Parts: sequence; structure tokens; C-alpha cells
Amino acid sequence: MKKRKRRKKNKKGFVAAVAVILISGGGLYGVMDYLDSQGIPAKEAVGKITDLFQKKKDVASSTVAEGEMYVTFLDVGQGDCTIIQTKDGNMMIDAGNNSWGETVVAALDERGIEELDYLILTHPDADHIGGADNVLREITVEKVLMPDVENDTVTYTEVENLISEKQIPVDHPYAGAEYALGDAAFTVLCPQADGVSENDLNSSSVGIKLVHGENSFVMCGDAEAEAEQEMTAQFGTALECDVLKCGHHGSSTATTPEFLAATDPTWALISCGKDNSYGHPHAEVMAALEDADVQVYRTDQQGTITCVSDGKELHWRTEHE
Ligand SMILES: [Zn+2]
Repeated sequence: MKKRKRRKKNKKGFVAAVAVILISGGGLYGVMDYLDSQGIPAKEAVGKITDLFQKKKDVASSTVAEGEMYVTFLDVGQGDCTIIQTKDGNMMIDAGNNSWGETVVAALDERGIEELDYLILTHPDADHIGGADNVLREITVEKVLMPDVENDTVTYTEVENLISEKQIPVDHPYAGAEYALGDAAFTVLCPQADGVSENDLNSSSVGIKLVHGENSFVMCGDAEAEAEQEMTAQFGTALECDVLKCGHHGSSTATTPEFLAATDPTWALISCGKDNSYGHPHAEVMAALEDADVQVYRTDQQGTITCVSDGKELHWRTEHE
């Protein structure tokens, strides 16, 4: 115990000394002199300094302050993966395609996320659940939310097997269900109980409205026009939000003019791959967003995009311009 305490104190002293030298304009030579005076060899010193900056970076990317929420739309090419962090709870919606599994786990690591309160797998298509096996293997998942529908693929079977192997509780939520996540909360918007079908996996998608203070996000996987119509009928003006994640990667099968009017977003987010073979986002959707004066963020153009909520305002950070 004593030993640990002393080491900590020494480390603090080292950090403070380096900081003082740098702030007072002593530069690298000043730091080297100090290290020399402490009898720390150059190689070890470089390691310590790297460690110091690395720590700083880790802390910066993992700390969500009290009252903040980070919503990160991870660039996973043609697919979806959204990470939501609050001070007291984390969640992920979808995990990208199979080939992105390691990237997704690395993104969780970088943010210091070892546990997810919820993993929402919107629907069992590969571009949404492909990386989920990596996540389930590496990260503690408290609960999985997914529609009550199967897909006859190796990818689906792998994910399903891992969920039962690890005995993770699974909810098959329907429109109207409510959940808490730290100081945020979300309401399930879709699917309807009779809307889940193996013949239409997209419209079986679990979609949510996430609310943090005065800020809100509507994110509905690949739910298409029919599901959007049902949401509009059931929720009406309660669909209004600040950020709409366009359904089905910006396909014209979703983000209908009626749904766009009902959600009335300030910002839209489109998660799709660069030069994808589907032509996402479709021109009709982009035109409708422009007409409605909605500012658009796209993972194919801006890479990973993070939206920071303080409960009142939203601030955006993008990987590329
Ligand atoms: Zn998709």
C-alpha cells in the first residue's frame, strides 16, 4: 500500500515538473536536463513522455462529463454503427459489417467503454450485425435489444449463438417501450407488434427516439416508408427531433416527405459507404433534405462523426471536413 502511494506521488511529481518546464518555455532540452538530474535514462524518458501524452489522449476521448452525452456515428463503410455515451451508461446501435468488427471494438476501447448497458441490433442484416460477434466476445453487454425475427445466415447464427452462450438477456421491444440510459432515455418507435416479418427484415428494424435534456435523436435502422407511416400515425408531433438519422442509409425507400415533416429535424445524419453500389444516399432524399433546410452530415464524406449534447445545445465534431 505504502509503496503504491509513493509511486503515485513520484509520478505526479514527474508530470508536474515536465509541465512546469514546458509552460515556462524550457522546451525539450529543459525536460531532458530535468530527467538527467533525476537520473532517468533517455530511453525510459521517451517512454514516460509518450505514456504521458497517450494517457492525456485516452482521458480526453473517454471522459464524458456530468450532464453530457456523446453520440458517435462510426464510419463503418456501407453499414451502421452508433455509439452513445453518457456519464452513467453506454449503448451501441448496430456494429457494421463483419469486416469492421475489430474497428468497432477498437472504437469502444478508445472511448474506455468496457460495458454496454444496451446493444441494439436493429435487424439481422450483415451490415448491421456483422461486427456484433467481435463486440459480444470482447465487451460486457448487459442487454440486447433486437426484433423477434431470424435470418438464415452464418453471420446471424454466430451472433445468436454468442448471445445464448453468454446468457445475455434479450428484449424484443415494440413501439412505445421505454428505457433509461444514464441521464438520457429512449422510446422505441418501431417495429409494431405485427410489423415484424422474415420477409421484410428492414421494416422489422428497432427504431428509437433518444432524448437528452432538450436534445433528441430519431434513429430507425433500415425502417422504410410503411414503418415511417405507422410511426407518424402513432407518435405524431412526438417524433420531432434535432437529429434524424436517415433510414436505410439515405435510400429513397425511407425518409419520406411525410416522415421528414413529422420529425422536422435541424440536422440529418447519413451512414453509408463511399461510392457504394446502391447509390446511397439517393438524390430524392438529398433534395428533400435541402428543401427542408436540414444540415446533412455523412459518414462517407466526413468519416466518423460525433455529436455532443449538453442537454441544451448540440456540437458536432467530424473526422474529415
Ligand atoms: Zn442497412
